[in-house]
Amino acid sequence: MPIKVLESDIVAKIAAGEVIERPVSVVKELVENSLDAGATQITVETQAGGVEQIKVSDNGTGIPASELEIAFHRYATSKIDDLSDLEKITSLGFRGEALPSIATVTEVEIFTRTSSEVVGSYLHLRKGEVIQRESRARPQGTTVTVHHLFRFFPARLKFLKSVNTENSHIAHLVSQYALAFPEVKFTLVLDKRPSLRTIGNGELREVIVEIYGLEIAQSMLQIEQGDGLTKINGLTSPPSLARSSRNYLSFFVNRRWVRSPLLTRATEEAYHGLLMDDKHPISVINIFIPAQELDVNIHPAKAQIKFCHEQAVFSSVQKAIKKALASTPIASIKSVPFSVSSEQWQRPRMIMDNEPAFVVTQLPTMELPVLRLLGQLANTYIIAEGPDGLYLIDQHAAHERILYDRILAQWAQKEFEVQGLLQPITMELSPREEETLRASNEFLVEFGFTIEPFGNRSYMIRAIPALMARANIIEIITALLNKLASKDSPNPWEEKIAQSLACHGTIRAGQQLSNEEMRELIKQLEQTKQPRACPHGRPTMIHLSSHQLDKEFGRIS
Ligand code: ADP
Ligand code: MG
Repeated sequence: MPIKVLESDIVAKIAAGEVIERPVSVVKELVENSLDAGATQITVETQAGGVEQIKVSDNGTGIPASELEIAFHRYATSKIDDLSDLEKITSLGFRGEALPSIATVTEVEIFTRTSSEVVGSYLHLRKGEVIQRESRARPQGTTVTVHHLFRFFPARLKFLKSVNTENSHIAHLVSQYALAFPEVKFTLVLDKRPSLRTIGNGELREVIVEIYGLEIAQSMLQIEQGDGLTKINGLTSPPSLARSSRNYLSFFVNRRWVRSPLLTRATEEAYHGLLMDDKHPISVINIFIPAQELDVNIHPAKAQIKFCHEQAVFSSVQKAIKKALASTPIASIKSVPFSVSSEQWQRPRMIMDNEPAFVVTQLPTMELPVLRLLGQLANTYIIAEGPDGLYLIDQHAAHERILYDRILAQWAQKEFEVQGLLQPITMELSPREEETLRASNEFLVEFGFTIEPFGNRSYMIRAIPALMARANIIEIITALLNKLASKDSPNPWEEKIAQSLACHGTIRAGQQLSNEEMRELIKQLEQTKQPRACPHGRPTMIHLSSHQLDKEFGRIS
């Protein structure tokens, strides 16, 4: 279809308002255009987190010389024509907003040729105005170069995070498109550094090798299901491979990368009882559904979608994943969830008469009285007696609190005990993890880590904090990088590192402890700053006062 400006009745219906928030939004629009143009090779190169330059080249259809200027008009698109097309969108773009929005905030060069033209066309625009146009030779395809994003809007520049943060967003985005389009050869180069290269042979597992490493790729389980009109395929991790963040969940609906609480829930519920509470799977899930069953026109960035039959999609996804999981023998874990939610815990509350006795009655900041050990329950809780009743201590949460305080104290005194590894461990990082490591390596050094580049996104771990000597190092570093990249916690970086390390270096629920070990744990817990809450704010213990016990047994009214 030729590029033309949409009629005003369609414009009124599209969820318009393309906002170029940050460099990654530009990369997303340009990559989507290349994919819509049927490209099999896409190269993304950025400078200074995309602020100085973003260049996306493809070998797609190209834009005919006669349509090149129209492409920069608002609502000019070749992808939809009339209102009925809005109901069956199969392309990634459809609003005709990206090129004009990008061109108005910056300086853009576009260089393109279609298969039927003998020579390519070049156009240079500044603030949306054409400043140069000429014919030049080039192979079929399109290259768009965006210079000095927001130069004319310095206010937006101020809000951008560091180059490393922008790079990590770009690396994550390109990784997602590479997962969605295994038949496309993607190359990502950040500040002249190759960050990701996929081979484009159509094999999802091969893309996973490039992004998450060989070991993960080899153990991922195949998902394959056709449920009437909905088809689902992809790869998902066995429960032994869980991660402590949701960054490893990728959903593609009709090949569009989407963020969907519905799909996240469906996936996680399929793992119910197989993962610890704070663990998440690694999954790449493709859902193919008739375009009429879907509304992609609800969000300006097109990152959200609405299914007409949500429940049906939910069950299909859950079923598909359960089927994949059923193909491996799995031991179910014995984690006992906390009986008090962290929300309840943080708020002091009144004890109502008709409530059961098992409620938390004190705030976590209070000091701990001297406790006498009575025993262990379900290899998970320590039972102890205090001057005012019974204490049930969660051994994992308590140990986490102890370690957290110790780690921060060692760090504050610059006395971090380091353990050199006789045999260095190598690990592969995803492009996003690599960017986070580059940004945070100096902090990790302060905590005793020595991690050296080993070429091609492999890293060699030579030393670790001595406190972590018994833990799974690769798991710790992956969790740590995720924690540092996450925006959900405003805590300073040293607290994030200490939290993550404490969480992974601790004794687990389900581990039998000797009386001596339990006494030592209680003693150390008594010495911490906040013995009643773990670093995540969850309770380390439940206290049943003598008064509550007497009341519950009907000794007093
Ligand atoms: P949309 O993608 O919503 O149609 P854009 O502003 O992103 O709007 O692009 C406008 C038009 O320019 C597209 O409809 C397409 O015809 C053309 N175009 C943009 N980028 C490319 C590309 N890389 N290859 C071929 N055509 C392109
Ligand atoms: Mg587009």
